[in-house]
Amino acid sequence: MGSIEGNAASKKQAHPGNLSILTKVDRLRELIGAKVALPQLVVVGDQSSGKSSVLEGLTGFGFPRDAELCTRYATQITCRREVEKSISVSIIPHADAAQDEQERVKKFHRELKDMTPESLAQVFREANETMGIRSSTKPADSDGSPLPAFSEHILKIEKLGPEEYHFTVIDVPGIFRKETEGITTEADIDLVRNMVKRYMKDTRTIILAIIPSNVDPATQEILKLAKNADPTMTRTMAVLTKPDLAIERTMQQIPIDHVKGTRGNLTLGYYIVKNRGPDDANKTLEQGQDDERKFFSNTPWSALKSTGRAGIGALKERVRELLVDLIKKEFPQLKADIAKELSTSKSQLEKMGPSRSDQYTQRAYLNNISEQFQTLARDALSANYTGNSIFDERHELRLVTRIVEASEKYSDIMWKNGHTRPFTNEPGFPLANGELRKKVRDTLDAREVFEYTDYPDLEEIFDAADTVMPEPSSEGDIMEYIKGVHRNSRGQDLGTFSGALVSTMFKEQSKKWKHITLSFLSGVITAVHRFVDEALKEVCPDTRVRDELWNGYLLEELQGSYRRAMDHTRFLLEIELEGTPFTLNHYFNDNLQKAQNGRFVVAMEQIGTTATIPTRDQLGNATSEVQNGLFLSKSQLSNLSFNMGNSDHAREYMHDVLKSYYKLSRKRFTDVVCQQAVNHYLLHGEGSPLKIFNTRMVLNLNEDQLDMIAAEDAPVKLRREKLGRDIKSFETALKVLKGSV
Ligand code: GDP
Ligand code: MG
Repeated sequence: MGSIEGNAASKKQAHPGNLSILTKVDRLRELIGAKVALPQLVVVGDQSSGKSSVLEGLTGFGFPRDAELCTRYATQITCRREVEKSISVSIIPHADAAQDEQERVKKFHRELKDMTPESLAQVFREANETMGIRSSTKPADSDGSPLPAFSEHILKIEKLGPEEYHFTVIDVPGIFRKETEGITTEADIDLVRNMVKRYMKDTRTIILAIIPSNVDPATQEILKLAKNADPTMTRTMAVLTKPDLAIERTMQQIPIDHVKGTRGNLTLGYYIVKNRGPDDANKTLEQGQDDERKFFSNTPWSALKSTGRAGIGALKERVRELLVDLIKKEFPQLKADIAKELSTSKSQLEKMGPSRSDQYTQRAYLNNISEQFQTLARDALSANYTGNSIFDERHELRLVTRIVEASEKYSDIMWKNGHTRPFTNEPGFPLANGELRKKVRDTLDAREVFEYTDYPDLEEIFDAADTVMPEPSSEGDIMEYIKGVHRNSRGQDLGTFSGALVSTMFKEQSKKWKHITLSFLSGVITAVHRFVDEALKEVCPDTRVRDELWNGYLLEELQGSYRRAMDHTRFLLEIELEGTPFTLNHYFNDNLQKAQNGRFVVAMEQIGTTATIPTRDQLGNATSEVQNGLFLSKSQLSNLSFNMGNSDHAREYMHDVLKSYYKLSRKRFTDVVCQQAVNHYLLHGEGSPLKIFNTRMVLNLNEDQLDMIAAEDAPVKLRREKLGRDIKSFETALKVLKGSV
């Protein structure tokens, strides 16, 4: 910084309040600059309008004067007061860049003790190369594709020293309107314009619009862009440059009028500076500023003296005031923004749960998940649906309710459609022609109760052959069928029949059970599987952990458990259908006798006369009440017979035996399937799929297994660390704002 200007600046720094405010902002920028927009300056304008020169005047940081190194990316220059003089240069990667690209540019870091034009030019060349920007020595990538002319990364320059005064200013590439063959493209024009717009947009940014004096500001696009970004124009200031190039009197008058405020309509007004021109290449910044003072003391420019708006020194002071005002104005909002960022980061970290770096924290983490899972499963099994809101949103997870529904439907289907042919005296008997096959096809599917989803995981559990509905062995209703069976197996017996026939008939009559039962069971298994899957998603949102757990441990166990239920069901089917018909249950005889009695009554009704007879009380006395009865004479009664052949009688008897046994067996079987295959094997039993993921399983995992499932992978670890750092930064930033640090 120039000695004269330096002194002028030191005088201004007599406001300790302002200094401390600027220091605070510097601290904040270091802590949270990348996350919260902080008050800053941005220098915008056309290419070659003098942006970098003005910036140099404000910061003392001299850009290399090599045409090749003209601004190709945003450059953020932060000046800060430190005892030691130093300049450090690094790159802030563009947030949208690829991860490896970000990592690469982040590595760029240069420290400069003194600032010679040569050393600076070298640093800039290296920075350009790191960002992959085209140069005359390297116009294309190794694969021949041309390198870009601009980059969205930010070059960050920190200039520290005992005489610095605090602020940050950003130099952006100049706007241009025509592409240059071999250097810039149409797309570059938009890229730069958008970059400029983006920097102007933030309400915490003061816009310095640089306009050369040899053009009329009214025609300048940059002021229109500024007006869009800052409609009230309260943070836009115009800086006129190159007054020395306005030679004619009329040309000089335009900038003078603007600075005096008689032209133009900017709230903050126009300033004017004269920088070093291309011919002043060998002059130092200080020499250039001496020239400037001389320049403005000559006519016609001396007329501007009273405005206090001519020269870089005046501009510098004004800019600093503006910045301090802006910071003061923005403090409360800044505080609110930081507090909000802090709470967002905190809640994100909380969601990640405690860190899992060793086997104890890993086991605790999995234990916690398994306990939550068990609670959900318990609630779902005991129909305690108030415990978790997941049951309100998703009714298919109300497991026990769904299963009770399905079991009832299963029992209903078995009752109404389980038999191959309807028994006599039951709906559907006798069967109309062609009715039998249709009836078989129409058998309802118990799986309808569930919203059925196909899980590839379950494919191997279900056998496609089970779902084929068997055809009846012959057409015709049950009496015709029995007649056929009887005819083909008749011996010389006297109206009786062999027990083996019951077994044959029973197998035919219960042919559909296997299909109905196994499809019911596959429905239940699917429902249970879905529950386990969804419940796990609920309690373990980390997909990596869940996948490890699922594929490495749970799936195999679950499949084993389903297979046991299916195997057991097949076992029950085999016993019931293939074994010798057997029962100790007296209902068999009850039913048989009822059926026989029914036939007896029908026969009596055919020969008897209906009559009304008085009712008898408990003591046998006739009462005045009457009931309908049947009158048979003694001789009618003693001659009563069914009046049919032995074989007819045998067939009816066969029917009645089959019907009694079938009914009993059906009830016994459906109960046993529900009780054993469903309730025990799939819901409540020790090895049920709902019991697999429990604390015991977690306890049995060894260290390696635990690490495999529950260790945090690198991205998660990094994210946690980053959140931790962010939280600390935001907390410190809040303290800085409150003045307690
Ligand atoms: P930028 O492209 O907007 O950053 O402009 P620069 O600051 O790089 O300046 C472009 C050219 O204009 C350089 O050759 C400067 O020396 C020259 N220049 C900048 N300001 C002035 C000025 O006030 N007077 C004269 N004569 N030349 C200037
Ligand atoms: Mg520039």
